[in-house]
Amino acid sequence: QRALLLQLKGKENVTKSGKKLHIYANIGSVGDVGYVLENDAGGIGLFRSEFLYIGRNELPTEEEQFQAYKQALQNMAGKKVIIRTLDIGADKQADYLNLGEEENPALGYRAIRICLTRPEIFKTQLRALFRASVYGNLSIMYPMITSVEEVKRIQSIVKEVKEELAASQTPYKDVEEGIMIETPAAVMISDELAELVDFFSVGTNDLTQYTLAIDRQNEKLEEFFNPHHKAILKMLQMVVDNAHAAGKWAGICGELGADPELTETFVRMGFDEISVAPSMVLKLRKIVREME
Ligand code: PEP
Ligand code: MG
Repeated sequence: QRALLLQLKGKENVTKSGKKLHIYANIGSVGDVGYVLENDAGGIGLFRSEFLYIGRNELPTEEEQFQAYKQALQNMAGKKVIIRTLDIGADKQADYLNLGEEENPALGYRAIRICLTRPEIFKTQLRALFRASVYGNLSIMYPMITSVEEVKRIQSIVKEVKEELAASQTPYKDVEEGIMIETPAAVMISDELAELVDFFSVGTNDLTQYTLAIDRQNEKLEEFFNPHHKAILKMLQMVVDNAHAAGKWAGICGELGADPELTETFVRMGFDEISVAPSMVLKLRKIVREME
């Protein structure tokens, strides 16, 4: 089985009628880049940057982050690398940040909410990302967006960072900037959000959790956690349609993207990209190539 899949390396992700799909890979550290290349993914669709912040006693420095991003970009040799900014809080904690105990961590102080209220942390990461941008094909993605206002606040911080880099003659490139669609609010205003960003990537893990009001970590509720729920599928269609109406692209980077039962549905919905665990890339390629 695996040997057959390996024969698909170097082939396109294209249906019999000629529709193409980008199949990228999700990774959680620079060390995973090797698996991405081994499995012939077209790029990295979700690089979770939390690995730099977790399991240590202090914030990673700008230089340390810069080196990690640069290495990933260089190893990917011009293929797209979508790095997601810090998505900490809820299930991912770092004691040194003193985030505090919360009644409802999944609904709490996490991800972009931390970045917008502690801009020094956010700016350090953005500086490292933009400095690394000249070493490859970088895109930046922001997690847990719920409003237009948040995107505008991000954009003004990004503008400041770029101005500071320019003032110190530090080279950087303008890169594609997108957002994760992983809250029902973001889905419902995806028409407005699409005007502001370059792409969407749907985080179906959180989107399912917030839409069905089911903790994604609670094993007791597993039988109710249904990412095939019609509500989710309708939201996915809405997200692609709104992205395309604004001339932007849309992908999926949550685990649902790797569900082989839905690959055909996603292609028919019009998704431009699906990002999955490296080991699933060739399997999805096979399904796409067998589609009418
Ligand atoms: C998601 O929520 O679907 C997602 C891809 O992000 P994470 O699993 O890191 O929250
Ligand atoms: Mg998420």
